[in-house]
Amino acid sequence: MSVREVEPYPRAVGKLQALVRIPTVSDHDPARVDTARFDEFLAELEAQFPLLHERLELTRIPTHALLFRWAGHAAERPVVLMAHLDVVPVDDGSPWQHPPFGATIADGAIWGRGTLDDKGSLVGICEAVETLLERGFTPEQDVWLSFGCDEEVFGTAAPLAVAELVRRGVRPWFVLDEGGAIAHEAFPGVAAPIGVIGVTEKGTTSLELRVEGRGGHASTPARMGPTARLARAILRLERSPLPPHTPDPTVELFRRIAPHAPLALRPLLANAGRLRPVLTRALLAAGPETAAMTRTTVAVTTLSGSPAINVIASTARAGVNIRVMVGDTVAGVLEHVRRAIGDDQVHIDVLDHNEPSPVSPTDEAFALLESTIRELFTDAVPAPYVMMAATDSRHFTEICGRVYRFAPFRMTKAQRESIHSYDEHLGIDAFVDGVRWYQRLIERIPR
Ligand SMILES: [Zn+2]
Repeated sequence: MSVREVEPYPRAVGKLQALVRIPTVSDHDPARVDTARFDEFLAELEAQFPLLHERLELTRIPTHALLFRWAGHAAERPVVLMAHLDVVPVDDGSPWQHPPFGATIADGAIWGRGTLDDKGSLVGICEAVETLLERGFTPEQDVWLSFGCDEEVFGTAAPLAVAELVRRGVRPWFVLDEGGAIAHEAFPGVAAPIGVIGVTEKGTTSLELRVEGRGGHASTPARMGPTARLARAILRLERSPLPPHTPDPTVELFRRIAPHAPLALRPLLANAGRLRPVLTRALLAAGPETAAMTRTTVAVTTLSGSPAINVIASTARAGVNIRVMVGDTVAGVLEHVRRAIGDDQVHIDVLDHNEPSPVSPTDEAFALLESTIRELFTDAVPAPYVMMAATDSRHFTEICGRVYRFAPFRMTKAQRESIHSYDEHLGIDAFVDGVRWYQRLIERIPR
């Protein structure tokens, strides 16, 4: 038992527990959202952070999102801190060690859905602001807090918050959302944690492939019916992956890791820019996770044909989920898909499309994040990276060139894998360090 476990915990821990216990599960279907839980959550948030709610100006964004403005000494270079209060559902069959909405404290951590994604950041930001308000602190620039309520279902709260900022003429100096972390065990053979800051994220695009035919009785099949034609299209797609290329932020990530990497790897990583083709081949060979760092990925996810086993399908469909790499475009990827399939009887419908986010520069605002990481996490190596998953912050790239994705919490590989899965937990010390990081960041925003 560590000393911490017999001492009272810092008050922020109890606040996080209280908020994790309210299951704010979002859903694509608004009718299936338990809005009473979201109401309860907002009331609890106000109870836990009274000064923040009293002193900051609040704009409610439908349905349960919050946009706070904390007036600074100046407003020319405002900063936006983001988090979301919704969580993904819990799979009933998953083997959680502790109840997913129990916020149990065990083994020096707080366990529960949302501790990492993303209530840890939400409470971290609020506690930092509350503490600074208690001390009578005023930030050098306006600080906006944008807390979404439907991030996990690609909802409308974030675009609405952006529209509100546009209406008020707010052009943020930088935006900080979830994404990276102080990632332990991030790279084989590297002992130092990497403070990965997402400078761009892949775009998500979904297609449906559809083949139509006459259908009929299964006893008299014709050649190349809808299912066979669809299967051929899927195989053709599988056999023609998009060309790989390692983008600049990944090269910079490896350059920064190089001094901490095993000796044999150092020359390759340190010269990642010059050796880009070699590096790309190595990443492709090392497995699906690293391969995804080098290219747009295409995954056929859903399939449907006839509803009965003795009936020939009159329509066969396949869902295709595409993650568009920075450097590629949705239009270019679509052209590639069309050419790869090479069959005009396979109809391609675009269900939704998102370009990869523009790459944020590693200049002044990035340097502020970086030096604040170095100050509080002295063992960490800050570095830019390309995020594979989507965040609400992609909407903010419309009004801001510097959008960064980073949560100041130490996370092991197992913790990162627990996000959207089971046994999600945030270390108590890691959480307390994260609160301090947000506080220092706000204190250090320059005039
Ligand atoms: Zn999230």
